[in-house]
Amino acid sequence: MTTAQPSQPHVPAAAPSGTGERPELAASLDDLRRAYAELQSLGLRLDLTRGKPSAAQLDLSEALLALPGEGVHTDDTGTDVRNYGGLDGLPQLRRIFAELLGLPVEQLLAGGNASLTLMYDTLVYAMLFGVPGSEWPWGREERVRWICPVPGYDRHFTVCEELGIEMVPVPMTPAGPDVDAVAALVADDPSIKGMWVVPTYANPDGSVVSEDVARRLVSMPTAAPDFRILWDNAYALHHLTEEEVTSADAIRMAAEAGNPDRVVLFASTSKITFAGAGVAFLGSSPANVAWFRKHLSAQSIGPDKVNQLRHALFFGDADGVRAHMREHRRILAPKFQAVTDTLAERLGPWDVASWNAPRGGYFVSLVVPSGTASRVVELAKGAGIALTPAGAAYPYGKDPEDKVLRLAPSLPPLEEVRVAMDGVATCVLLAAAEQAAAR
Ligand code: PLP
Repeated sequence: MTTAQPSQPHVPAAAPSGTGERPELAASLDDLRRAYAELQSLGLRLDLTRGKPSAAQLDLSEALLALPGEGVHTDDTGTDVRNYGGLDGLPQLRRIFAELLGLPVEQLLAGGNASLTLMYDTLVYAMLFGVPGSEWPWGREERVRWICPVPGYDRHFTVCEELGIEMVPVPMTPAGPDVDAVAALVADDPSIKGMWVVPTYANPDGSVVSEDVARRLVSMPTAAPDFRILWDNAYALHHLTEEEVTSADAIRMAAEAGNPDRVVLFASTSKITFAGAGVAFLGSSPANVAWFRKHLSAQSIGPDKVNQLRHALFFGDADGVRAHMREHRRILAPKFQAVTDTLAERLGPWDVASWNAPRGGYFVSLVVPSGTASRVVELAKGAGIALTPAGAAYPYGKDPEDKVLRLAPSLPPLEEVRVAMDGVATCVLLAAAEQAAAR
Protein backbone atom coordinates (compact mmCIF):
# COMPACT_ATOMS: atom_id res chain seq x y z
CA MET A 1 0.00 0.00 0.00
CA THR A 2 1.13 3.54 -0.60
CA THR A 3 -0.34 6.72 0.73
CA ALA A 4 -2.28 8.93 -1.63
CA GLN A 5 -0.19 10.41 -4.41
CA PRO A 6 -1.31 12.70 -7.19
CA SER A 7 -2.95 10.67 -9.95
CA GLN A 8 -0.78 9.75 -12.92
CA PRO A 9 -0.48 12.62 -15.35
CA HIS A 10 -3.09 12.56 -18.04
CA VAL A 11 -1.76 11.06 -21.23
CA PRO A 12 -0.55 12.79 -23.33
CA ALA A 13 0.48 15.23 -20.59
CA ALA A 14 -0.68 18.36 -22.41
CA ALA A 15 -4.34 19.08 -23.04
CA PRO A 16 -5.19 18.99 -26.71
CA SER A 17 -4.60 22.27 -28.48
CA GLY A 18 -7.71 24.42 -28.38
CA THR A 19 -7.07 26.21 -31.67
CA GLY A 20 -8.65 23.54 -33.83
CA GLU A 21 -5.91 24.19 -36.40
CA ARG A 22 -4.95 20.70 -37.36
CA PRO A 23 -4.16 20.75 -41.06
CA GLU A 24 -3.23 17.04 -41.21
CA LEU A 25 -6.56 16.09 -39.73
CA ALA A 26 -8.47 18.43 -42.02
CA ALA A 27 -6.67 16.78 -44.94
CA SER A 28 -7.78 13.36 -43.69
CA LEU A 29 -11.44 14.32 -43.55
CA ASP A 30 -12.48 12.15 -46.50
CA ASP A 31 -10.60 9.12 -45.18
CA LEU A 32 -12.23 9.58 -41.78
CA ARG A 33 -15.67 9.88 -43.34
CA ARG A 34 -15.04 6.57 -45.09
CA ALA A 35 -13.86 4.99 -41.82
CA TYR A 36 -16.99 6.27 -40.11
CA ALA A 37 -19.24 4.85 -42.86
CA GLU A 38 -17.53 1.48 -42.38
CA LEU A 39 -18.10 1.73 -38.66
CA GLN A 40 -21.79 2.40 -39.26
CA SER A 41 -22.03 -0.58 -41.58
CA LEU A 42 -21.06 -2.89 -38.67
CA GLY A 43 -24.51 -2.34 -37.13
CA LEU A 44 -23.10 -2.13 -33.58
CA ARG A 45 -25.21 -1.84 -30.43
CA LEU A 46 -22.72 -1.01 -27.70
CA ASP A 47 -23.03 0.99 -24.49
CA LEU A 48 -20.30 2.84 -22.62
CA THR A 49 -22.67 4.96 -20.51
CA ARG A 50 -23.24 2.97 -17.36
CA GLY A 51 -20.86 2.86 -14.41
CA LYS A 52 -22.36 -0.47 -13.36
CA PRO A 53 -20.66 -3.70 -12.34
CA SER A 54 -20.86 -6.41 -15.01
CA ALA A 55 -22.69 -9.69 -14.48
CA ALA A 56 -19.31 -11.41 -13.95
CA GLN A 57 -18.61 -8.99 -11.09
CA LEU A 58 -22.03 -9.53 -9.55
CA ASP A 59 -21.38 -13.27 -9.72
CA LEU A 60 -18.42 -12.79 -7.35
CA SER A 61 -20.97 -12.14 -4.59
CA GLU A 62 -23.46 -14.85 -5.53
CA ALA A 63 -22.93 -16.59 -2.17
CA LEU A 64 -24.61 -13.61 -0.49
CA LEU A 65 -27.93 -14.85 -1.81
CA ALA A 66 -27.76 -17.90 0.44
CA LEU A 67 -26.72 -15.94 3.54
CA PRO A 68 -27.35 -15.64 6.42
CA GLY A 69 -29.28 -18.87 5.82
CA GLU A 70 -32.35 -20.34 7.44
CA GLY A 71 -31.96 -20.47 11.21
CA VAL A 72 -29.14 -17.89 11.30
CA HIS A 73 -30.54 -14.67 12.60
CA THR A 74 -28.36 -13.32 15.36
CA ASP A 75 -25.24 -11.22 15.11
CA ASP A 76 -22.16 -11.76 17.26
CA THR A 77 -23.77 -9.92 20.18
CA GLY A 78 -26.92 -12.05 20.06
CA THR A 79 -29.15 -9.37 18.50
CA ASP A 80 -31.96 -10.84 16.42
CA VAL A 81 -31.44 -9.11 13.09
CA ARG A 82 -34.97 -9.89 11.92
CA ASN A 83 -36.47 -7.47 14.39
CA TYR A 84 -36.77 -3.69 14.62
CA GLY A 85 -34.01 -1.54 16.08
CA GLY A 86 -30.29 -1.02 15.84
CA LEU A 87 -30.49 2.35 14.11
CA ASP A 88 -26.69 2.67 13.83
CA GLY A 89 -26.41 -0.57 11.87
CA LEU A 90 -24.84 -3.87 12.81
CA PRO A 91 -21.58 -3.45 14.80
CA GLN A 92 -20.23 -6.67 13.26
CA LEU A 93 -20.30 -5.10 9.79
CA ARG A 94 -19.45 -1.56 10.90
CA ARG A 95 -16.25 -2.87 12.51
CA ILE A 96 -15.07 -4.29 9.17
CA PHE A 97 -15.74 -1.07 7.29
CA ALA A 98 -14.50 1.18 10.07
CA GLU A 99 -11.13 -0.53 9.69
CA LEU A 100 -11.21 -0.17 5.90
CA LEU A 101 -12.32 3.46 5.97
CA GLY A 102 -10.00 4.37 8.83
CA LEU A 103 -12.27 5.67 11.58
CA PRO A 104 -13.59 4.50 14.96
CA VAL A 105 -16.59 2.19 14.74
CA GLU A 106 -18.68 4.55 16.93
CA GLN A 107 -18.27 7.17 14.21
CA LEU A 108 -19.55 4.98 11.38
CA LEU A 109 -23.22 4.24 10.70
CA ALA A 110 -24.41 1.49 8.36
CA GLY A 111 -27.69 2.04 6.54
CA GLY A 112 -29.61 0.91 3.50
CA ASN A 113 -28.25 0.13 0.07
CA ALA A 114 -27.45 3.59 -1.32
CA SER A 115 -24.87 6.08 -0.09
CA LEU A 116 -26.51 8.61 -2.40
CA THR A 117 -29.56 8.47 -0.14
CA LEU A 118 -27.37 9.24 2.89
CA MET A 119 -25.85 12.20 1.06
CA TYR A 120 -29.27 13.46 0.03
CA ASP A 121 -30.59 13.06 3.58
CA THR A 122 -27.58 14.91 4.98
CA LEU A 123 -28.32 17.89 2.78
CA VAL A 124 -32.07 17.71 3.40
CA TYR A 125 -31.47 17.69 7.18
CA ALA A 126 -29.06 20.62 6.78
CA MET A 127 -31.62 22.60 4.77
CA LEU A 128 -34.45 21.83 7.18
CA PHE A 129 -32.66 21.93 10.53
CA GLY A 130 -29.11 23.22 10.05
CA VAL A 131 -26.00 21.25 11.08
CA PRO A 132 -24.00 21.46 14.34
CA GLY A 133 -22.63 24.99 14.33
CA SER A 134 -25.42 26.49 12.19
CA GLU A 135 -27.24 29.57 13.43
CA TRP A 136 -30.42 28.42 11.72
CA PRO A 137 -31.53 25.97 9.01
CA TRP A 138 -29.68 26.46 5.74
CA GLY A 139 -33.02 26.69 3.98
CA ARG A 140 -33.66 30.00 5.73
CA GLU A 141 -30.56 31.59 4.21
CA GLU A 142 -31.13 33.89 1.26
CA ARG A 143 -29.01 31.58 -0.88
CA VAL A 144 -27.01 28.41 -0.31
CA ARG A 145 -24.04 27.82 -2.60
CA TRP A 146 -21.94 24.70 -2.97
CA ILE A 147 -18.57 24.02 -4.55
CA CYS A 148 -18.71 21.38 -7.26
CA PRO A 149 -15.35 20.19 -8.58
CA VAL A 150 -15.63 19.59 -12.34
CA PRO A 151 -15.72 17.26 -14.08
CA GLY A 152 -17.69 15.50 -11.35
CA TYR A 153 -20.47 13.04 -10.54
CA ASP A 154 -23.74 14.03 -12.20
CA ARG A 155 -25.93 12.74 -9.36
CA HIS A 156 -24.19 15.02 -6.86
CA PHE A 157 -25.21 17.89 -9.08
CA THR A 158 -28.78 16.61 -9.32
CA VAL A 159 -29.03 16.58 -5.50
CA CYS A 160 -27.94 20.23 -5.37
CA GLU A 161 -30.29 21.20 -8.17
CA GLU A 162 -33.21 19.40 -6.53
CA LEU A 163 -32.66 21.22 -3.23
CA GLY A 164 -32.15 24.65 -4.79
CA ILE A 165 -28.46 24.74 -3.87
CA GLU A 166 -26.54 26.91 -6.30
CA MET A 167 -23.51 25.16 -7.76
CA VAL A 168 -20.12 26.83 -8.06
CA PRO A 169 -17.77 24.85 -10.31
CA VAL A 170 -14.04 24.63 -9.59
CA PRO A 171 -11.60 22.65 -11.72
CA MET A 172 -10.23 19.25 -10.78
CA THR A 173 -6.49 18.61 -10.86
CA PRO A 174 -4.70 15.25 -10.76
CA ALA A 175 -4.37 15.77 -6.97
CA GLY A 176 -8.05 16.56 -6.38
CA PRO A 177 -10.03 19.82 -6.47
CA ASP A 178 -8.05 22.99 -7.23
CA VAL A 179 -7.56 23.90 -3.60
CA ASP A 180 -6.33 27.45 -4.26
CA ALA A 181 -9.54 28.20 -6.13
CA VAL A 182 -11.63 26.58 -3.38
CA ALA A 183 -9.85 28.41 -0.55
CA ALA A 184 -10.28 31.77 -2.31
CA LEU A 185 -14.01 31.20 -2.83
CA VAL A 186 -14.86 30.02 0.68
CA ALA A 187 -12.73 32.58 2.54
CA ASP A 188 -15.20 35.42 2.34
CA ASP A 189 -18.48 34.08 1.00
CA PRO A 190 -20.64 32.78 3.88
CA SER A 191 -23.28 31.54 1.46
CA ILE A 192 -20.88 28.77 0.35
CA LYS A 193 -21.85 26.06 2.80
CA GLY A 194 -19.78 23.19 1.53
CA MET A 195 -18.44 21.11 -1.29
CA TRP A 196 -18.39 17.69 -2.87
CA VAL A 197 -15.17 15.71 -2.85
CA VAL A 198 -14.67 12.25 -4.33
CA PRO A 199 -11.28 11.63 -2.76
CA THR A 200 -10.24 8.34 -4.28
CA TYR A 201 -10.32 7.49 -7.98
CA ALA A 202 -12.79 10.29 -8.64
CA ASN A 203 -15.73 10.01 -10.97
CA PRO A 204 -14.91 10.64 -13.77
CA ASP A 205 -11.24 11.69 -13.92
CA GLY A 206 -9.76 9.02 -11.63
CA SER A 207 -7.79 11.55 -9.59
CA VAL A 208 -6.80 10.93 -5.98
CA VAL A 209 -6.85 13.71 -3.38
CA SER A 210 -3.27 14.09 -2.12
CA GLU A 211 -2.45 14.39 1.58
CA ASP A 212 -1.52 18.00 1.01
CA VAL A 213 -4.79 18.91 -0.73
CA ALA A 214 -6.78 17.07 1.93
CA ARG A 215 -4.98 18.93 4.72
CA ARG A 216 -5.66 22.27 3.08
CA LEU A 217 -9.34 21.48 2.48
CA VAL A 218 -9.94 20.55 6.10
CA SER A 219 -7.98 23.46 7.54
CA MET A 220 -8.76 26.38 5.18
CA PRO A 221 -10.62 29.29 6.80
CA THR A 222 -14.27 29.43 5.69
CA ALA A 223 -16.64 32.37 6.02
CA ALA A 224 -19.47 29.91 6.76
CA PRO A 225 -18.97 28.60 10.32
CA ASP A 226 -20.93 25.45 9.43
CA PHE A 227 -19.05 24.57 6.22
CA ARG A 228 -19.20 20.86 5.29
CA ILE A 229 -17.19 18.67 2.95
CA LEU A 230 -19.24 15.73 1.70
CA TRP A 231 -16.36 13.29 1.26
CA ASP A 232 -17.84 10.66 -1.03
CA ASN A 233 -15.38 7.80 -0.89
CA ALA A 234 -17.38 5.61 -3.26
CA TYR A 235 -14.22 4.08 -4.77
CA ALA A 236 -12.01 3.83 -1.66
CA LEU A 237 -11.24 0.15 -2.26
CA HIS A 238 -11.67 -0.08 -6.01
CA HIS A 239 -8.07 -0.41 -7.15
CA LEU A 240 -7.17 -1.24 -10.74
CA THR A 241 -3.46 -1.80 -10.10
CA GLU A 242 -1.35 -3.44 -7.44
CA GLU A 243 -0.60 -0.02 -6.07
CA GLU A 244 -3.51 0.30 -3.64
CA VAL A 245 -3.70 3.94 -2.62
CA THR A 246 -4.90 4.78 0.86
CA SER A 247 -7.33 7.67 1.01
CA ALA A 248 -6.28 10.72 2.97
CA ASP A 249 -7.62 10.45 6.50
CA ALA A 250 -9.76 13.56 6.25
CA ILE A 251 -11.84 13.11 9.41
CA ARG A 252 -8.78 12.81 11.64
CA MET A 253 -7.02 15.64 9.79
CA ALA A 254 -10.06 17.89 10.23
CA ALA A 255 -10.11 17.20 13.97
CA GLU A 256 -6.39 17.97 14.21
CA ALA A 257 -6.97 21.22 12.31
CA GLY A 258 -9.60 22.30 14.83
CA ASN A 259 -12.51 21.70 12.44
CA PRO A 260 -13.75 18.34 13.74
CA ASP A 261 -17.20 18.62 12.16
CA ARG A 262 -16.14 19.68 8.69
CA VAL A 263 -16.05 16.28 6.97
CA VAL A 264 -18.86 13.79 6.42
CA LEU A 265 -17.71 10.59 4.74
CA PHE A 266 -19.83 8.28 2.60
CA ALA A 267 -19.15 4.85 1.15
CA SER A 268 -21.05 1.75 0.13
CA THR A 269 -20.71 -1.79 -1.11
CA SER A 270 -22.62 -0.96 -4.30
CA LYS A 271 -19.57 -1.79 -6.41
CA ILE A 272 -18.23 -4.37 -3.99
CA THR A 273 -21.21 -6.73 -3.72
CA PHE A 274 -24.55 -5.89 -5.36
CA ALA A 275 -25.17 -2.39 -6.74
CA GLY A 276 -28.85 -2.79 -5.96
CA ALA A 277 -28.60 -4.62 -2.64
CA GLY A 278 -25.47 -3.51 -0.84
CA VAL A 279 -24.90 -1.54 2.36
CA ALA A 280 -24.11 2.18 2.61
CA PHE A 281 -22.08 3.94 5.31
CA LEU A 282 -21.86 7.42 6.82
CA GLY A 283 -18.87 8.38 8.95
CA SER A 284 -18.07 11.65 10.69
CA SER A 285 -17.28 13.39 13.96
CA PRO A 286 -19.20 12.30 17.08
CA ALA A 287 -21.27 15.51 16.91
CA ASN A 288 -22.22 15.04 13.26
CA VAL A 289 -23.03 11.36 13.79
CA ALA A 290 -25.29 12.23 16.75
CA TRP A 291 -26.94 14.95 14.65
CA PHE A 292 -27.56 12.57 11.74
CA ARG A 293 -28.82 9.81 14.02
CA LYS A 294 -31.28 12.17 15.72
CA HIS A 295 -32.93 13.12 12.44
CA LEU A 296 -32.71 9.57 11.09
CA SER A 297 -34.55 8.30 14.15
CA ALA A 298 -37.62 10.24 13.08
CA GLN A 299 -37.46 8.57 9.71
CA SER A 300 -36.58 4.94 10.50
CA ILE A 301 -36.69 2.40 13.32
CA GLY A 302 -33.64 0.65 11.96
CA PRO A 303 -31.94 -0.49 8.74
CA ASP A 304 -32.06 -3.87 7.01
CA LYS A 305 -29.88 -5.77 9.47
CA VAL A 306 -30.42 -9.09 7.72
CA ASN A 307 -28.58 -7.69 4.71
CA GLN A 308 -25.90 -6.26 6.98
CA LEU A 309 -25.41 -9.65 8.71
CA ARG A 310 -25.25 -11.38 5.33
CA HIS A 311 -22.47 -8.98 4.29
CA ALA A 312 -20.57 -9.45 7.57
CA LEU A 313 -20.71 -13.24 7.23
CA PHE A 314 -19.75 -13.10 3.55
CA PHE A 315 -16.60 -11.00 4.17
CA GLY A 316 -15.59 -12.24 7.61
CA ASP A 317 -13.15 -9.37 8.10
CA ALA A 318 -11.46 -6.45 6.36
CA ASP A 319 -9.03 -8.77 4.59
CA GLY A 320 -12.01 -10.61 3.18
CA VAL A 321 -13.13 -7.36 1.54
CA ARG A 322 -9.64 -6.67 0.23
CA ALA A 323 -9.38 -10.14 -1.31
CA HIS A 324 -12.82 -9.73 -2.87
CA MET A 325 -11.77 -6.43 -4.44
CA ARG A 326 -8.78 -8.12 -6.04
CA GLU A 327 -11.25 -10.40 -7.83
CA HIS A 328 -13.06 -7.33 -9.15
CA ARG A 329 -9.73 -5.94 -10.30
CA ARG A 330 -9.01 -9.13 -12.26
CA ILE A 331 -12.21 -8.55 -14.26
CA LEU A 332 -12.02 -4.76 -14.55
CA ALA A 333 -8.36 -3.99 -15.16
CA PRO A 334 -8.21 -5.51 -18.69
CA LYS A 335 -11.22 -3.42 -19.72
CA PHE A 336 -9.59 -0.19 -18.57
CA GLN A 337 -6.37 -1.27 -20.25
CA ALA A 338 -8.31 -1.80 -23.48
CA VAL A 339 -9.68 1.76 -23.22
CA THR A 340 -6.33 3.43 -22.66
CA ASP A 341 -4.47 1.22 -25.16
CA THR A 342 -7.01 1.96 -27.90
CA LEU A 343 -6.94 5.67 -27.17
CA ALA A 344 -3.14 5.72 -27.20
CA GLU A 345 -2.95 3.74 -30.41
CA ARG A 346 -5.65 5.57 -32.35
CA LEU A 347 -5.50 9.12 -30.96
CA GLY A 348 -1.94 9.35 -29.64
CA PRO A 349 -0.39 10.15 -33.02
CA TRP A 350 -2.79 13.07 -33.64
CA ASP A 351 -2.38 15.24 -30.50
CA VAL A 352 -6.12 15.57 -30.53
CA ALA A 353 -7.24 14.36 -27.09
CA SER A 354 -6.06 13.66 -23.57
CA TRP A 355 -7.33 11.18 -21.04
CA ASN A 356 -6.49 9.76 -17.65
CA ALA A 357 -5.08 6.30 -17.05
CA PRO A 358 -7.03 5.50 -13.90
CA ARG A 359 -5.45 3.55 -11.07
CA GLY A 360 -8.89 2.71 -9.75
CA GLY A 361 -12.58 3.56 -9.88
CA TYR A 362 -15.03 3.14 -12.72
CA PHE A 363 -14.40 5.83 -15.31
CA VAL A 364 -12.06 7.35 -17.83
CA SER A 365 -12.38 11.02 -18.65
CA LEU A 366 -11.61 11.81 -22.28
CA VAL A 367 -10.88 15.42 -23.21
CA VAL A 368 -11.46 16.21 -26.88
CA PRO A 369 -11.00 19.51 -28.75
CA SER A 370 -13.23 22.27 -27.35
CA GLY A 371 -16.57 22.38 -29.07
CA THR A 372 -16.56 18.76 -30.29
CA ALA A 373 -17.70 16.61 -27.35
CA SER A 374 -21.41 16.78 -28.29
CA ARG A 375 -20.55 16.00 -31.90
CA VAL A 376 -18.57 12.93 -30.80
CA VAL A 377 -21.58 11.69 -28.82
CA GLU A 378 -23.82 12.30 -31.84
CA LEU A 379 -21.47 10.49 -34.23
CA ALA A 380 -21.09 7.58 -31.81
CA LYS A 381 -24.86 7.29 -31.51
CA GLY A 382 -25.11 7.21 -35.30
CA ALA A 383 -22.74 4.23 -35.24
CA GLY A 384 -24.63 2.37 -32.52
CA ILE A 385 -22.32 3.30 -29.62
CA ALA A 386 -24.04 4.93 -26.65
CA LEU A 387 -21.92 7.48 -24.76
CA THR A 388 -22.88 9.51 -21.69
CA PRO A 389 -24.24 12.88 -22.90
CA ALA A 390 -21.57 15.56 -23.23
CA GLY A 391 -21.89 17.92 -20.28
CA ALA A 392 -23.10 15.22 -17.87
CA ALA A 393 -20.04 15.73 -15.67
CA TYR A 394 -20.88 19.44 -15.18
CA PRO A 395 -23.49 21.24 -13.08
CA TYR A 396 -26.76 21.72 -14.94
CA GLY A 397 -25.41 19.36 -17.66
CA LYS A 398 -23.44 22.20 -19.26
CA ASP A 399 -19.78 21.78 -20.08
CA PRO A 400 -18.86 25.38 -21.01
CA GLU A 401 -16.17 24.16 -23.37
CA ASP A 402 -18.01 21.10 -24.67
CA LYS A 403 -14.88 19.01 -24.40
CA VAL A 404 -15.21 16.32 -21.69
CA LEU A 405 -16.54 12.80 -22.28
CA ARG A 406 -17.03 10.19 -19.57
CA LEU A 407 -16.30 6.62 -20.57
CA ALA A 408 -17.58 3.72 -18.47
CA PRO A 409 -16.13 0.38 -19.59
CA SER A 410 -17.17 -1.83 -16.63
CA LEU A 411 -20.43 -3.26 -17.97
CA PRO A 412 -19.74 -4.57 -21.50
CA PRO A 413 -17.59 -7.67 -22.07
CA LEU A 414 -13.91 -7.00 -22.86
CA GLU A 415 -14.21 -7.61 -26.59
CA GLU A 416 -17.09 -5.14 -26.83
CA VAL A 417 -15.06 -2.54 -24.95
CA ARG A 418 -12.31 -2.87 -27.57
CA VAL A 419 -14.72 -2.55 -30.49
CA ALA A 420 -16.58 0.35 -28.89
CA MET A 421 -13.39 2.25 -28.09
CA ASP A 422 -12.08 1.83 -31.61
CA GLY A 423 -15.37 3.32 -32.81
CA VAL A 424 -15.16 6.17 -30.29
CA ALA A 425 -11.65 6.97 -31.52
CA THR A 426 -12.94 7.19 -35.11
CA CYS A 427 -15.69 9.55 -33.94
CA VAL A 428 -13.23 11.76 -32.02
CA LEU A 429 -10.98 12.04 -35.06
CA LEU A 430 -13.86 12.73 -37.43
CA ALA A 431 -15.34 15.42 -35.16
CA ALA A 432 -11.93 17.08 -34.82
CA ALA A 433 -11.33 16.84 -38.59
CA GLU A 434 -14.73 18.39 -39.33
CA GLN A 435 -13.89 21.25 -36.99
CA ALA A 436 -10.43 21.73 -38.45
CA ALA A 437 -11.75 21.69 -42.01
CA ALA A 438 -14.38 24.31 -41.17
CA ARG A 439 -11.78 26.83 -39.98
N1 PLP B 1 -20.73 8.33 -5.49
C1 PLP B 1 -20.07 8.28 -6.64
C2 PLP B 1 -18.89 9.16 -6.85
C3 PLP B 1 -20.50 7.42 -7.66
O1 PLP B 1 -19.83 7.39 -8.82
C4 PLP B 1 -21.63 6.60 -7.44
C5 PLP B 1 -22.14 5.71 -8.50
O2 PLP B 1 -21.77 5.79 -9.64
C6 PLP B 1 -22.29 6.69 -6.21
C7 PLP B 1 -21.81 7.55 -5.25
C8 PLP B 1 -23.51 5.88 -5.91
O3 PLP B 1 -23.33 5.21 -4.72
P1 PLP B 1 -24.49 4.32 -4.07
O4 PLP B 1 -24.76 3.20 -4.99
O5 PLP B 1 -23.90 3.89 -2.78
O6 PLP B 1 -25.68 5.21 -3.89
